[in-house]
Amino acid sequence: MPEVAGIVSEDTDEDPATFRITLPLPPLDRRYNTPEEGIEAINQLGFNNGFAVVKRRSKKTKGQVPRLKKVQLQCDRGGQALEHPKEAPEQPEQAPVASGRSKKRKTHSLAIDCPFDISLRLQDDEKWILTITSDKHNHKPSPATTHVAHRKHELAQKREQLQNWFKQNLPTRQILRLLRAEDKRTCLLPKDINNARMRMNDEFLAGQTPIQALLMELPTDGEWRFRYTIHFYYDTVHFYC
Ligand SMILES: [Zn+2]
Repeated sequence: MPEVAGIVSEDTDEDPATFRITLPLPPLDRRYNTPEEGIEAINQLGFNNGFAVVKRRSKKTKGQVPRLKKVQLQCDRGGQALEHPKEAPEQPEQAPVASGRSKKRKTHSLAIDCPFDISLRLQDDEKWILTITSDKHNHKPSPATTHVAHRKHELAQKREQLQNWFKQNLPTRQILRLLRAEDKRTCLLPKDINNARMRMNDEFLAGQTPIQALLMELPTDGEWRFRYTIHFYYDTVHFYC
């Protein structure tokens, strides 16, 4: 296998063009109330078996009130491999957020054109079922930490707990220790904690200055009785507690 600029492939026995493996899926007769419920069931198995699925595209019914009827899913290693990541088209920069920071997505992809292709389809009884076009992957399973979908799911599950720790200003390494003590299988990485902390700060500030946000927060946080005056010219606040 050719070596490129010091990068040595570890997968000398795994050529994605020919390597094929089948990983467990939920039983095909299981019915789901929503596509999201189906995706969660698949990714729960994916968590234990080293893969994750993401939405690829959706189809709606025709007619005056189009309804979702099919959600096609792919492995998170599906899609075209980026041979020259630096030349990949840049994603549009998002609008600056409240705190003035701007968010820019990094172009990063583990895609290796995995052929895995399944769908969730709406049935006449309003339930969703799983159908398989291809259940083959072209790569070995990999740990949950390598799958953004699993980390996002855990972040959503533990959002409130994390927010409490952020409010206590716990450092990221301590939060990771606490997470591991509670759940040995946590797949969150330091960067997930840091990003979640920044997002929460942005949501909290939501268009306010930090001082205004502080004024909003104080009355709910302990037994504060205070008066304050704001000097707009100097942008300062005097507290009288
Ligand atoms: Zn795959």
